[in-house]
Amino acid sequence: MISIDEALSRILSNLPPRRVERVGLPDCLGRVLAEDLAATTDIPPFSRSAMDGYALRAEDVANTPARLRLAGEVRAGGGDPGAIKAGQAKAIMTGAPIPEGADAVQTVEESQTSADGREVVILKPVQKGENIRPRGAETARGGVVLEAGRYIGPPEVAVLATFGFPDIPVWGKPRVALIATGDEIVEAGETPRPDQIRNSNAPSVSAQLRYMGLESDYLGIAADTKEALRLLIGEGLKRDVLIITGGVSVGEYDFVKDVFEEFGLQIIFSKVAVRPGKPMVFARQGDRLVFGLPGNPVSTCVTFEIFVRPALGRLCGHLKPELPRVRGVLLRAVRQRRGRTSFVPAWAEEKPDRWEIDPVQWQGSGDIIGFARANAVFIFPRERDFMASGEGVEALLLPDYSKRNRFDR
Ligand code: AMP
Ligand code: MG
Repeated sequence: MISIDEALSRILSNLPPRRVERVGLPDCLGRVLAEDLAATTDIPPFSRSAMDGYALRAEDVANTPARLRLAGEVRAGGGDPGAIKAGQAKAIMTGAPIPEGADAVQTVEESQTSADGREVVILKPVQKGENIRPRGAETARGGVVLEAGRYIGPPEVAVLATFGFPDIPVWGKPRVALIATGDEIVEAGETPRPDQIRNSNAPSVSAQLRYMGLESDYLGIAADTKEALRLLIGEGLKRDVLIITGGVSVGEYDFVKDVFEEFGLQIIFSKVAVRPGKPMVFARQGDRLVFGLPGNPVSTCVTFEIFVRPALGRLCGHLKPELPRVRGVLLRAVRQRRGRTSFVPAWAEEKPDRWEIDPVQWQGSGDIIGFARANAVFIFPRERDFMASGEGVEALLLPDYSKRNRFDR
């Protein structure tokens, strides 16, 4: 049985090469840029006013109040701004081009127009260049404005739009297939027999993938027979990534690994010293990655976050897809059996001086209702069996950490 770190390093060293894809502006949010992008123009493209005010020559208003002749106005988007001569000013709007001859803008607040509108009295001197955004101040044409590896959030979308890039090179997204297994499992829309339960893993994994910006093809529930598994796994292996839940343990009817071997998959590991989630298979077939996650709903959720997220996140180009970690103080004592590193569901809350980590009540890897009250998991070291209230712990914040509210008390 290998350690979590060993499992992770094996996963990361088996990632296939990424591919570049070109997308339009509406599809680039949440993607990662695959190439440097350089400015196609100077930005700002022309010297423009940063304020509503008067374009003038700073030397004409060195002594104030100073009276200047109004030589018209310059509107944003209003065409050629014309020019001013000594002793003149033009009313100018934010975003409008600076007329030739002007070297500063004084604001409306520091100016007064005469009653006949022919003159403006400037009440305060301005520095040369004041309230002017000169051409090329943000970037000169040819300068790199977004680097390869940049995550595209809303501000990056604005930068991309600024240059009107038509085909944005981003890292491609893997196509993911998803399979549930188990004779006892029926779909959420069905009524289980007395010995059956509803499929919660396929919906939860599909939701976790969507949080990562990934769609999945759900292929259904495979019965616990090799024939049923062959059929769905064969279909799943047509995608870049296959995630299958359940049937990876050591039970009589846990055939997933056998069928993986039939398909010639290279099993990279099949047991990790993690709780929940010990029986967890990672395999590959050429460039395809296959994750066999344990069937218990909490194990499925946790192993996805710990092992699948880092892999799929990197395939999408994310530099650090892991859950964010915080150090905090444990609010209650916790016991665990020694031997495996545990991820214990907890409520993590940021207080002014520290993070507080409060274990939620839960009954183990099958208890998804208890787990759903957590917003984090904290790490319980494998060599320990008791952690006292007040001890320092490391917690991983679950993806929707900040949107959650506490409901367990
Ligand atoms: P397995 O890994 O197949 O031995 O399953 C472990 C436990 O998880 C069993 O109690 C299963 O009934 C349960 N389980 C397996 N698959 C699912 C699923 N898709 N949804 C909910 N529970 C499941
Ligand atoms: Mg099963």
